[in-house]
Amino acid sequence: MLIDSLKRNINYLRLSVTDRCNLRCSYCLPKLYSNFSSTSEIMSDEEIVSLVRSFAELGISKLRITGGEPLLRPGLPSLIKKLRELKSIDDISLSTNGIFLKKFAPELSDAGLDRINISIDSLNADKYKSITSFGEITDVLEGIECALENGFSPVKLNVVVSRGMNEDEINDFAALTEIYPIHIRFIELMPMGETGYFSFDKRVPLDEMMKLAQPLDPIPVENWPKGSGPAKYFRRPNGIGTVGFISPLSSNFCSDCNRMRLSAKGVLISCLADDQGMYLLRMLRAGANEKEIKDAIKLTVSCKPEKHLMMETATEGKSYPQFMCQMGG
Ligand code: SAM
Repeated sequence: MLIDSLKRNINYLRLSVTDRCNLRCSYCLPKLYSNFSSTSEIMSDEEIVSLVRSFAELGISKLRITGGEPLLRPGLPSLIKKLRELKSIDDISLSTNGIFLKKFAPELSDAGLDRINISIDSLNADKYKSITSFGEITDVLEGIECALENGFSPVKLNVVVSRGMNEDEINDFAALTEIYPIHIRFIELMPMGETGYFSFDKRVPLDEMMKLAQPLDPIPVENWPKGSGPAKYFRRPNGIGTVGFISPLSSNFCSDCNRMRLSAKGVLISCLADDQGMYLLRMLRAGANEKEIKDAIKLTVSCKPEKHLMMETATEGKSYPQFMCQMGG
């Protein structure tokens, strides 16, 4: 087991397979951003499998494939198939913007992927395009349909809420759970990356998001959807899906944090707010053996901070310098 200095059991790895993204969501990446890594700088399939094997042997049992946009990585289904074969990895999920999901959903299902989270911040085609710069909403909606048709469960929709962008759609999103077996998660805006986007005016705090999503009834924790992580879940009366809230600023959930992040360049980060990490890929390429890699993982886990200081950073008018795609969002 991987236990950090505060006795938190670390069993969950967010694995970034690319830092590239086909969208430029206004709060996430600047429209003209193109400073992506070259193929040789990011982990190959073999390197990923080798590193994840070490994590698995140390006690990681849950993997989330993320990015960048993970479906941009050539051969992702075959990588997932190899990860699925690792003993003790019992849950593999994917975070995607859903644009290419229609094409890949059947292959991903055959490869053994368990669950999918799809990011969608508006149900309105024009607004979706304006938030993402390049996205067509019909592609995402078809992707969601394909995820359901291919038996992924649960299917969660991630909605980052920002004032003036989409808080007027919270009720429409919540109402979808009355018709479809999906799980909407409203995410509080975070001060990530030098986009210049974040401000306290744009952030919609938890209590306001909850008010806008009413009517909602609490759900007993044992009935929350699988992989509930930092979200708190509710249900519309007669809802067949659920409505969740992730509010890293309004209510910090670090005491229950069970996760580490491995960036596409193979840097292990113990907290989203960390500005330093362990260069596992560099070590691997320099010939480190399995024991040395495992020791480096354990050392990083032991240095996991007690909590992020996102609220304090935002209050000082600052943002974390790294973009989400560089860290593994
Ligand atoms: N491309 C994949 C996707 O769209 O889900 C995975 C990477 S993306 C960076 C992961 C999640 O981070 C998305 O749901 C995105 O909306 C969210 N995100 C990015 N920047 C954020 C910010 N500043 N505050 C809150 N969430 C953010």
